[in-house]
Amino acid sequence: MENELSVIDVLIETHAGLERQGPGSREMTVKALSFLDNKNKILRVADLGCGSGGQTMVLAQNISGNIIALDQFTDFINILNDNAKKQNLQERVKGIVGFMDNLCFQKEEFDLIWSEGAIDSIGFEKGLTHWNSFLKKQGHIAVTCPSWLTDKHPEEIEKFWTDAGSGLDTIGNNISIMQKSGYSFVAAFTLPETCWTDNYFIPRAAAEKALLEKYASNEIVEAYIENSKYEVELFSKYKQYYGYVFYIGKKG
Ligand code: SAH
Repeated sequence: MENELSVIDVLIETHAGLERQGPGSREMTVKALSFLDNKNKILRVADLGCGSGGQTMVLAQNISGNIIALDQFTDFINILNDNAKKQNLQERVKGIVGFMDNLCFQKEEFDLIWSEGAIDSIGFEKGLTHWNSFLKKQGHIAVTCPSWLTDKHPEEIEKFWTDAGSGLDTIGNNISIMQKSGYSFVAAFTLPETCWTDNYFIPRAAAEKALLEKYASNEIVEAYIENSKYEVELFSKYKQYYGYVFYIGKKG
């Protein structure tokens, strides 16, 4: 059918109007920034998997350098560039469409590589390794990645993440992976529950409700929303076992 929605269409339409497309918050972005030394020497930043740029704007408000924000979805990048313009940040913040597993930047171009809620879609190790060469020596990396918080991994939630294409690892293993990928470890901290609930699940549910009204009885939309509800259910059941963790490292 010509007008049939795909799952990706539904995902984009649900998330485009949200401030963030995954768990996070302004406060946690600022907290992660506080671990970087020489913040006034940060001239070039890449924000990978930036979505519509919630955290990109926070970075721009706290760092005086230039930011290139990259995402695979044009709709998100258009929103980001519009917002940059509205905030008069268009000279310093540029959104571009691209793939974070195949970056076309120059070697050692960036002082800082940032990525919230995105690296797990290409794999923590693969992302850290690929991105390393684009970072200047002594440059920082800061990423959030869903991680196991305990050694026990209940089957139901493990299966959910595996089916979603993200194999979770423990914080300790991720720190070792970071060190093996060419970074010294700076800090790691877990995002609070409100980053998931107030900042992501609740606005997402409101957007989904509107979508369900717009596309009444569309099976793709219904199935998508069922899966989201299941994700929220699993979070309230298993949140002590997993969470989003910010990992901060330094090249070299
Ligand atoms: N950083 C934002 C968005 C997180 S959602 C926030 O925290 O709010 C994850 C984002 O990563 C999505 O916008 C998705 O389009 C993007 N993404 C996932 N895989 C990608 C890839 N291989 N290349 C570029 N972007 C990707």
